[in-house]
Amino acid sequence: MQTQIAILGAGPGGYVAALRAAQLGARVTMIEDNAVGGVCLNVGCIPTKALLRSAEVLRTAQNAKNYGLRLTGTVEPDWPAILKRKERIVRRLVSGVVALLRAAEVQVVEGRGRLVDPNTVEVVTPEGLRRLQAQHIILATGSRPAQLPLPGSNLPGVIDSTAALSLQELPARLLIIGGGVIGVEFADIFDAFGVRVTIVEMLDRLLPLMDAELGPTVERNLHRRRVKTYLSSRVTRLDEVGNGLLATVATENGELAIEADLVLVAVGRRPNIEDLGLEAVGVRVERTGIPVDQRMETNMPGIYAVGDVTGGMQLAHVASLGGEVAVENALGHGNSLSLKTVPACVYTDPEVASVGLTEEQARQTHPEIRVGRFPLLASGKALTYGDNSGFIKVISKGRSGELLGLHIIAPHASDLIHEGGLALALDATTEDLAKTVHGHPTLGEAIREAALAARGAAIHLPS
Ligand code: FAD
Repeated sequence: MQTQIAILGAGPGGYVAALRAAQLGARVTMIEDNAVGGVCLNVGCIPTKALLRSAEVLRTAQNAKNYGLRLTGTVEPDWPAILKRKERIVRRLVSGVVALLRAAEVQVVEGRGRLVDPNTVEVVTPEGLRRLQAQHIILATGSRPAQLPLPGSNLPGVIDSTAALSLQELPARLLIIGGGVIGVEFADIFDAFGVRVTIVEMLDRLLPLMDAELGPTVERNLHRRRVKTYLSSRVTRLDEVGNGLLATVATENGELAIEADLVLVAVGRRPNIEDLGLEAVGVRVERTGIPVDQRMETNMPGIYAVGDVTGGMQLAHVASLGGEVAVENALGHGNSLSLKTVPACVYTDPEVASVGLTEEQARQTHPEIRVGRFPLLASGKALTYGDNSGFIKVISKGRSGELLGLHIIAPHASDLIHEGGLALALDATTEDLAKTVHGHPTLGEAIREAALAARGAAIHLPS
């Protein structure tokens, strides 16, 4: 069988590459050994967001009296129904992608693919072995949950994010190892449904890869509910006790023991680089993933890699963008990946979103910076929402005022952040942001106020 572009993996990296290639008139074959949509649609972005939305609605209903509403009767989570809703959403999205692929005449081969030479992919399909000749190959095989090399990590009850999305029943107590994005999103979900959640994070704050002011605010919000956190702490072993697990935790103040019914390991993801035939074909592989240049090409001409398998920013939109860039280069259109405007979002309640440099990175790379903050305490829209715990932080170059970073904790932060992305794309300044009229009352107004604050001129803050 002959094709112009063969793609291994149908996650957001692979399937977007396939659609873009078809759009450009190429003959495309995509190989997937599990489910179209990859981690993102099936066991990542979409199912977590479906559960987070159920959690948010539940919390809002439980707090109805804060909005002047009297609920007669109780509001309780119906876990099987919540899971069914999540599965309905996933099914609908996956079938939408399948329909798009069909309409674009992308050939989808069900099976596990591996390279046998720089232009040949061998696929183990349910019907037997198939060989595919391709001018270009795109590796989009994604990632899987990292495991902890910990005594007891194989015990029953130790789960990963995939298992956490389909629990038969809710545990009474959940210990989450890892306070990154996945850890805090699951803490938000399970706490809302009545689970007593504890997070143990090795570093000194939650969301350690984001701007240093974000994690502590998220932590305060989680504490206001019932979530416990142990920072600068490490789970050193897990043991079975009764019907549950006992975690030994090394903290700064000595060792402690935490009992839980389930332990969710959320300590990052490993690239799927094994058994792809890469070494034999000469594709360079590192422990963190497949290195690529800005054109998404590996060291082997004509072989590209995109998404989580490259070990860069493990985000669905980065995978998709990489897919488009790889295809455009393969087909001679030329493009390169720029991560300058990539947002990172955390869908807790309230949401967290960032684009550009953190304050720490900005201080390291620029001689002079300005930081403008606007607390949502002073936002009319946030007050009407009933959530004014967040803030907006704008970081700009000292002299020119060119935007370097935008960080938000607010309801709908993930929708607000793109103003910062566009500003970064256009090399806009805090003056440009301030000149842009924002509707009133909106949460977006707070971005303008933070930009003004960076210039020492916020209107709705005491001087
Ligand atoms: P994947 O989505 O992992 O897809 C790779 C596909 O390749 C898989 O379907 C796999 O079966 C297939 N495959 C692997 N090897 C082979 C082979 N040899 N032959 C054939 N097929 C193969 N990102 C966000 O941007 N926003 C979020 O809100 C978000 N939430 C997340 C929540 C969770 C719980 C998790 C786990 C991840 C989340 N992510 C989120 C990350 C996001 O899911 C990934 O960055 C994204 O799915 C990566 O896309 P990909 O195409 O590189 O790989």
